[in-house]
Amino acid sequence: MSNAPAPPRPYVSPRLGEVLALLPAAVSRFVEAEMVPNDEHWRQQKHVGHEIWRKAGAQGFLCTDLPAEYGGAGGDFRHEAVVYEETLRRGLSGFGQGVHSICAHYILNHGTEEQKQRFLPRMARGELVGAIAMTEPGAGSDLQGIRTRAERDGDDYVINGSKIFITNGYLAEVMIVVVKTDPAQGARGTSILLVETPNLPGYRVGRILDKMGMKAQDTSELFFEDVRVPAANLLGGREGQGFYQLMADLPYERLIVALGGVAAMEGALQATKEYVSQRKAFGRTVAEFQNTKFKLAEVATHTRIARVFIDRCIQDLLEGRLDTATASMAKYWITDTQQQMLDECVQLHGGYGYMNEYLVTRMFADARVQRIYGGTNEIMKELIARSLG
Ligand SMILES: Cc1cc2nc3c(=O)[nH]c(=O)nc-3n(C[C@H](O)[C@H](O)[C@H](O)COP(=O)(O)OP(=O)(O)OC[C@H]3O[C@@H](n4cnc5c(N)ncnc54)[C@H](O)[C@@H]3O)c2cc1C
Repeated sequence: MSNAPAPPRPYVSPRLGEVLALLPAAVSRFVEAEMVPNDEHWRQQKHVGHEIWRKAGAQGFLCTDLPAEYGGAGGDFRHEAVVYEETLRRGLSGFGQGVHSICAHYILNHGTEEQKQRFLPRMARGELVGAIAMTEPGAGSDLQGIRTRAERDGDDYVINGSKIFITNGYLAEVMIVVVKTDPAQGARGTSILLVETPNLPGYRVGRILDKMGMKAQDTSELFFEDVRVPAANLLGGREGQGFYQLMADLPYERLIVALGGVAAMEGALQATKEYVSQRKAFGRTVAEFQNTKFKLAEVATHTRIARVFIDRCIQDLLEGRLDTATASMAKYWITDTQQQMLDECVQLHGGYGYMNEYLVTRMFADARVQRIYGGTNEIMKELIARSLG
């Protein structure tokens, strides 16, 4: 008789109740058929192209948590979470659905009724890929330092300036652009404009940036030279609301980054278990070494803690009580942990763990930026510290 303890009960996320039982399988089939076979090509060309966006929209997998009256699926964040998990546990970091959804949420939460009707149904169908353009060469963490200027001229705003590191920047067809409408007013002189980019005079996408990881993601520089947008594209219709609008949606954004971290750890753990059970050294499998067992035990434990925490955060979000400090804790702790765990998974792959054809290698490189974007982890600690009083 074996003395081995019974395997742990598989953790079933409490959010995946009966309503959601079929969604992961449907999304998984779509991802396997339409994304996995194209990922290598996408990484070579540095973007995923528009077609996959249209296909995901046609399947109803975009903007799943938008109300049906705006073209969404009428679901909630649990539905969104399924799509993030099915892509990111496979290391498919090129498809910037998180930023697309965040962009849609700015419009949903702060836009005028006319703006919601004009943009959201097309975003849900994947006809408009969304992006958020905040960061500039001279201002990232300290967004008060942005210089992109929008001046009112008749019925238009005229935008001049540049943005950098913009996720979905090359493919984006609608973007939230953070601008100064009154530079003398500091934060209160900041506004958000909705910019529809196709055939827009004066708008130019610069390089798709050459990054350490996320090779299929079209992170880009953007340039605005006397770009005219209708005054009706001012988010919410009132100047000076930009900072308030940005702050209000931060917990949602940080939850998405953290959830991606959990999904990556779960995918990496599975891939590493499979690898070490096949790889042989000194006449046995790598899985049989005590060090391997202990490392996998550590990765499994950290991954489970992260999963339980994120599920709790999702529940809080659904109940409208996810606060900024808790979302910041999730973003900081999970992404730091993600990087440590991915490092262990790479190590257990030996030299193959340094080769880009392996999932854990790509995930390791992708993980690094998780601690930087969405607000750096230092900024997260700043916010957590402030909440401690
Ligand atoms: C792949 C990628 C995708 C991105 N996608 C987008 C996007 O879609 N849209 C967008 O607008 N931006 C995007 N960004 C930009 C990202 O959000 C910024 O890079 C990030 O906020 C940090 O800004 P920064 O690069 O200017 O660094 P800085 O703000 O210059 O920070 C440099 C260092 O100083 C530290 N620091 C700054 N302030 C403090 C402080 N008060 N206390 C302690 N330490 C501090 C930072 O933590 C960091 O370690 C993306 C970046 C990358 C790399």
